[in-house]
Amino acid sequence: MYDIIIIGAGPAGLTAAIYARRAEKQVLVIEKDTFGGQITSSPKVENYPGFLDVSGNELADRLIEQAISHGAMIELDEVKGISGEKGNFQVICSSKSYQARTVIIAAGSHHRKLGIDGEERLTGLGVSYCAVCDGAFFRGQRVAVIGGGNSALQDAVLLSDGCEKVYIVQNLAYLTGESRLQKILSGRQNVEIIYSSVVSRIVGNESLRSVEIRNTETGEERSLKVDGMFVAIGQAPENQPFETVAELDGQGYIIAGEDCVPKGAPKGIFVAGDCRTKSVRQITTATADGAAAALAAIRFLDDSQ
Ligand SMILES: Cc1cc2nc3c(=O)[nH]c(=O)nc-3n(C[C@H](O)[C@H](O)[C@H](O)COP(=O)(O)OP(=O)(O)OC[C@H]3O[C@@H](n4cnc5c(N)ncnc54)[C@H](O)[C@@H]3O)c2cc1C
Repeated sequence: MYDIIIIGAGPAGLTAAIYARRAEKQVLVIEKDTFGGQITSSPKVENYPGFLDVSGNELADRLIEQAISHGAMIELDEVKGISGEKGNFQVICSSKSYQARTVIIAAGSHHRKLGIDGEERLTGLGVSYCAVCDGAFFRGQRVAVIGGGNSALQDAVLLSDGCEKVYIVQNLAYLTGESRLQKILSGRQNVEIIYSSVVSRIVGNESLRSVEIRNTETGEERSLKVDGMFVAIGQAPENQPFETVAELDGQGYIIAGEDCVPKGAPKGIFVAGDCRTKSVRQITTATADGAAAALAAIRFLDDSQ
């Protein structure tokens, strides 16, 4: 039996692992997909204290190396649910179940989909959710970025370095991303921002050929001949496996405050990072949560002895 099982190897989960191992607890981190979490999609991080700038991958590598060098165990598996109660939990995964005295849920969030016909079928054939991962495939080509927040604008900046043309399709009459990014984009000749418009159809059989958009104010339709479409319309939490052990808000986030104790959960379960209710979702806030959740779990373990 592990002292602490941490679900998710993003900044929150890996920070929790470092703190827990420094208190000499037996720690297992379970990750279903990308070690390092969302930040591995970011080409450049300029707001993590101590680094003037660092790629998301390098930051993730450093976090993983630090957690492992302190003795954390890491498994690649998907958590499907948690059962049990105070001091005796089963973490049920795709391949097997693990036992733990405490559990920290640090499952983060994932990219939202448009939910339109063909989106799923053309994913990997022109439709992408990660400009960092797939942008290089579209060098010299025409692409559309859907969204107008920070992720969309970061994607557009990156893509405009190598693509012939970058359309930004925003459903509102204004962009919501940082003014610094807006300023960079306003200086790029190959970027066109299309406001108050939504994607109505995507066209293509074996690969994406065009994106049809509709202006929500005028009803005017327009076809964008593009080879790539990068969907950057925000994040959704990954909390379905935990809805039976903790209370979720209307958007699916686990309800918890700064103490990282989820509302309605059995004692011994904690939550950290982007998957909980909070106003700021950043690496700093995720790592802060990782520390708070680990220290709360350590206190719980020590008090139960
Ligand atoms: C493109 C991009 C750029 C960004 N740039 C910045 C930036 O410059 N500065 C900044 O501060 N923040 C930035 N962020 C936000 C930052 O990455 C997140 O706030 C941070 O990663 C949240 O950390 P987390 O550990 O809570 O969640 P995540 O990073 O989402 O990690 C959660 C992990 O849990 C795993 N997981 C989920 N469900 C399960 C399950 N059932 N079983 C097992 N594993 C599971 C996921 O696969 C994931 O690896 C950016 C995000 C993106 C997408």
